[in-house]
Amino acid sequence: MAAEQPQKKTLLALRQPNQPDTLVSINADICFGSEKLVLIGGPCAVESLQQITESAMAAKEAGAVMLRGGAWKPRTSPYDFQGLKEEGLELLAQAREKTGLPVVTEVLDPRDVSKVADVADMLQIGSRSVQNFALLREVGKSDKPVLLKRGMMTTVDEWLSAAEYILAGGNKNVVLCERGIRTFDTTLRNTLDVGAVAVLKQKTHLPVIVDPSHAAGDFRYVAALARAAVAAGADGLLVETHCHPADALSDAGQSLTPEQFAELTAGCRAVASAVGRVL
Ligand code: PEP
Ligand code: MN
Repeated sequence: MAAEQPQKKTLLALRQPNQPDTLVSINADICFGSEKLVLIGGPCAVESLQQITESAMAAKEAGAVMLRGGAWKPRTSPYDFQGLKEEGLELLAQAREKTGLPVVTEVLDPRDVSKVADVADMLQIGSRSVQNFALLREVGKSDKPVLLKRGMMTTVDEWLSAAEYILAGGNKNVVLCERGIRTFDTTLRNTLDVGAVAVLKQKTHLPVIVDPSHAAGDFRYVAALARAAVAAGADGLLVETHCHPADALSDAGQSLTPEQFAELTAGCRAVASAVGRVL
């Protein structure tokens, strides 16, 4: 007789009966999955010392408690700006020094995980890497929390299986990030799957945040999607901001100015309090 196959492929990511929410802490003040929502702001890419420090100060002023910024950028075209790489990491560390904001940044290559983890407070696995199993295994060995974006073509179950790779590797600090999926409707860059947030809050014990920027692809709609995300139960938001969006080297069209980001925060704060959360 053939050996019995395990019935569930996602033993660690799925919520067991009565299992409480997993809390993922970055430091004493920042914890994903608690009553308080975690607001992350910053540019798509780290471009210069001035750009990242200005962005970090403006994001903090608008209520962000963490700084984002890509040092390695996954670009559709190899001729587009690929990020400042190691120099970008160094600039992120300087912006953190200046503002006190912990940083989350993307790691694209399994060979770079320890280098990025030496600097970053949280490792981002981007949409395009959600099924890069070698990379998932490598961040599974890291002691840094992981922000795992949903792939633009992955189902909720496939996404949870990706999280399982990291959890099974021994890293229990995984935060999921819904960022929109590809659908028949191309009006916006992607379609924000707000329903997935509600489903995941049941299905998994892991915190779930939302990136309304890559879902919308257009600065005019980012705040509305952010408010919808908070209403649906998101544990935080990842928002792209830039002091001079027109000059951004990537994702210029979806980047919010500091003023727009402050408005988003105010709107989300009102929604958060309506659903019993704090921002
Ligand atoms: C990003 O956060 O800048 C990014 C590349 O996002 P995604 O992987 O969701 O496209
Ligand atoms: Mn981006």
